[in-house]
Amino acid sequence: MTFNDILMYLPDGEGTTGTLTIEGDRIAAVERHPVAEPKRLVMPGLVNAHGHSAMTLVRGTGGGLPLQRWLEEAIFPIEAKMKPGDIYAGAKWGAMEMLAGGTTAVADMYDFPSEGERAFAEAGIRARTNRVGLHFVPGRLAECIAYAEAKPERDLCIHSEYLTNEEFCRGLAAANEKLARPVHFHCSETEKEHRECLERHGKTPTAYLASTGLLDHGGYAAHCVWCTDDDFRIMAEKKVTLVHNPTSNLKLGSGIARIVRAKELGVNVALGTDGCASNDNLDMFEEMHLAALLPKGTGRDPTALPAREVIAMATENGARALGFDSGRIEPGKLADLCVVDLDRLHLTPYAELANLIVYSMHGSDVVETWVGGEKVYDRGEFMKLDRAKAKAEFLASVKGLKA
Ligand SMILES: [Zn+2]
Repeated sequence: MTFNDILMYLPDGEGTTGTLTIEGDRIAAVERHPVAEPKRLVMPGLVNAHGHSAMTLVRGTGGGLPLQRWLEEAIFPIEAKMKPGDIYAGAKWGAMEMLAGGTTAVADMYDFPSEGERAFAEAGIRARTNRVGLHFVPGRLAECIAYAEAKPERDLCIHSEYLTNEEFCRGLAAANEKLARPVHFHCSETEKEHRECLERHGKTPTAYLASTGLLDHGGYAAHCVWCTDDDFRIMAEKKVTLVHNPTSNLKLGSGIARIVRAKELGVNVALGTDGCASNDNLDMFEEMHLAALLPKGTGRDPTALPAREVIAMATENGARALGFDSGRIEPGKLADLCVVDLDRLHLTPYAELANLIVYSMHGSDVVETWVGGEKVYDRGEFMKLDRAKAKAEFLASVKGLKA
């Protein structure tokens, strides 16, 4: 399979015209040559490193509420009604939305994870899933471990410091001495959560979780809005990726993560959408756009976080966090790619490709998405599933949850 006469986004942050060849599930060759007027851009597929895909079912719910009230009054009552079939339909709809916007891999955290996993496989998106760690659910620790043990692409997870206790974290850490999986968790999302952990444990959430051994095999932490420099040093040392979720943090009034500082201190920073009740879509191009603008505005520094670093966050940094050999257009890497139609008003002309991607492009400019050398999305159609059937299932679940 060969993409001819294209523009490509390469790992050095530059664009080149030429030809890209795929063999099997990998990129086989990248040839540079002049092309008079490339009509398509091929770039690495985006990696959504923190999400709750089935929250498509509750898109937009509870707008305007602060985090704790948003969870308790708007989200938890509906989630309590969700059955495995709802999670399956919602996760599939989320996978479709992500593929249509050029996302080729996701780290998902939600209830009934094997239903999500099944939906992701059917849609053709690469995924890492987990059983969410919560200390107050009887038997949950054993479930979390058994879930991860069953398949290598499954991770360990705790929802957060505040929904687990020390015994739970140490239990997972002990099991992970053998499993050696990354741990997916929410961390220092709000000031209240961060402060209450300090009161409970005399340590920040990052320092406390590290002290339980839970971070000994790395992981990826969503939000990290209130993390200190010392927290960032721990994350760098423990190989814990910071997953920045700018839209969600702004919408819920949580604050703005200090990702420039985290990067300075050696933390791998990736990007995620979070669930789409706090976003309210799964468009990774929007996350790149915000991630690029926020540090420039807050630091009053237009040179902060160049576009190419933001693209790396959304591609290779996320792939590294999730353990996928993708995120760069170079021979040998997995052929997880998205194709963008350059013949759009807002993409013509452009000065610098990285800036075009971050500041001008939308998820809706993506026309094809490829995962592992296989085309899974093409101009509104999904190669591996029946869109009309998926929509009917999804809308039936949405209706059922409202009843
Ligand atoms: Zn989340």
